[in-house]
Amino acid sequence: MADKVETPVVEKQEETVPVEGAAKEGGENASKKAQKKLEKEQEKERKRLEREAAQLKEQEENWLKELKEDTLKENYGDYILVQSQEKTDRKWIQVLSIDESMVGQTVLIRARLQNSRVKGNVGFLVLRQQFSTIQAMISKNDVTVSKTMVKWVGKVPCESIVDVYGVVSKPETEIKSTSCKLELIVNKVYVVSRSRAQLPFQLEDAARQQKKEEQLAEYNNNEGDIEESKDNQASVSIKTRLDNRIIDLRTPAKQAIFRLQSGICQLFREYLLSQDFVEIHTPKLIGGSSEGGANIFKLKYFDKDACLAQSPQLYKQMCIQSDFERVFEIGPVFRAEKSFTHRHMCEFTGLDIEMSIKENYHELLDLMGDLFVHIFKGLETKYSKEIEAIQQQFPFEPFKIKTPVVKLTFEEGCKLLKEAGIEQNPLEDLDTVTEKKLGDIVREKYDTDFYMLHRYPISARPFYTMLCHDDPNYTLSYDFFMRGQEITSGAQRNHDPVSLAKRAAECGINVETIKDYIESMAFGAYPHGGCGIGLERVVFLYCDLYDIRNGCLFPRDPKRIAP
Ligand code: ATP
Repeated sequence: MADKVETPVVEKQEETVPVEGAAKEGGENASKKAQKKLEKEQEKERKRLEREAAQLKEQEENWLKELKEDTLKENYGDYILVQSQEKTDRKWIQVLSIDESMVGQTVLIRARLQNSRVKGNVGFLVLRQQFSTIQAMISKNDVTVSKTMVKWVGKVPCESIVDVYGVVSKPETEIKSTSCKLELIVNKVYVVSRSRAQLPFQLEDAARQQKKEEQLAEYNNNEGDIEESKDNQASVSIKTRLDNRIIDLRTPAKQAIFRLQSGICQLFREYLLSQDFVEIHTPKLIGGSSEGGANIFKLKYFDKDACLAQSPQLYKQMCIQSDFERVFEIGPVFRAEKSFTHRHMCEFTGLDIEMSIKENYHELLDLMGDLFVHIFKGLETKYSKEIEAIQQQFPFEPFKIKTPVVKLTFEEGCKLLKEAGIEQNPLEDLDTVTEKKLGDIVREKYDTDFYMLHRYPISARPFYTMLCHDDPNYTLSYDFFMRGQEITSGAQRNHDPVSLAKRAAECGINVETIKDYIESMAFGAYPHGGCGIGLERVVFLYCDLYDIRNGCLFPRDPKRIAP
């Protein structure tokens, strides 16, 4: 190092130092020199930017000129802002409805531009509508499509909404990447709304296939952002997806999941209406600071204390005693549960049922069995396209159901566990691990993913559950399971005010606090029972998704209250 410093230049500088002030002068000169150099560089940069801007302007002007001079310019462009200026008789069709009988027809579709590849005079677009996609081919033909039009299409940003007119045609080689196997030969394209902002992630990354183990890993590591997977393809973490749910929901599997969810509600409603049930809407704002349990969201109702309903159960029961006979509700349920599990949220949708019973709670169990068969068969037949779209991203084994539905008593369940070497006290509730094991055993033995377990021990059920007449250690209650996990809890309720009050006191409840409830049975009460089903649980278990939040549009958990 030292050797290198001893250069002639250094020696010369040392010789000229003696005069006082010269150093200062030299320093000033140096800084002036540096300043000048800097100014020169800045000027150079400014000129470069000016040149670039001029070039861009020229390109832009040339492009506008090219567009203006295009004789086929009527066939493409940006719509003016749609403000209900006109009402024409144009017919937009759904990609899902395009089939071979339409080959040769010109159709109009409104869709998102998922991506485009333009090279020279030819371009390939992928258009997406909910969970269907179709390829659109644009090629210069000088009749409807000019070279400028192809170029213009290539500049439309992905995720913009476009109106495309095209002729349905059958491609020579099968298109693998789109759900529709026919393609459109484009003759007109218009932009309805341009995508102007940078996407938080690429849709194809959020739509990448995720096997069960990958979903589990993602659940265990949900703090992450965009991750690199083994095969170097980016995948988007559930946190990032939920933070940007509007974009995430655009992916085909999510579109299909929420159509399936809607289907479950529709089939639930359809079946119950056919069985003379009445749809009701009970209040979600409840007076007092407690609805009679833990996990309550408390709030102020003007100057009074109130809370959010944890279940519509009391109101459903009151409706039975108000002579509605059979009622159901689809509504929100709030639970301030600080549990971080893959199957609990702080707000979920309850599918609730309550009905009068003539003589036996099996009337209720049988009706529930038929209801679930109606739902599962309905999904299979009416939602096969949605199921296929979900399978593309989240592969799962088809849901198996046996008719008549498998019904086991709690004691029979314990026996099956025992035969498999698992000890379970028949007078205590099952924990979730044992529930899962019993689910596996039942699947193996009965070839079904859905079954009912009933006659739960008294220790596992609340005070209002009716006791079994033949054994007071057991109750007329039940849980239903999908793939070994609970989706429903229900029971025949005790409608006798005297034994109800006695049982509440035995359970350590201050009877005074539930006086209204007990009193509601005192004016002549129908024997009755019901249950509550968690909608998101049915969705996530049907599709065997690991995390319940995948089955909820905008999930609420202890860490998330937005978006
Ligand atoms: P779990 O034992 O699974 O916590 P639970 O016994 O508290 O459920 P119930 O109060 O009987 O359940 O509610 C009826 C149904 O509502 C459950 O079977 C489940 O499908 C659904 N459910 C209950 N709690 C939640 C929750 N926190 N998030 C999502 N769904 C729920």
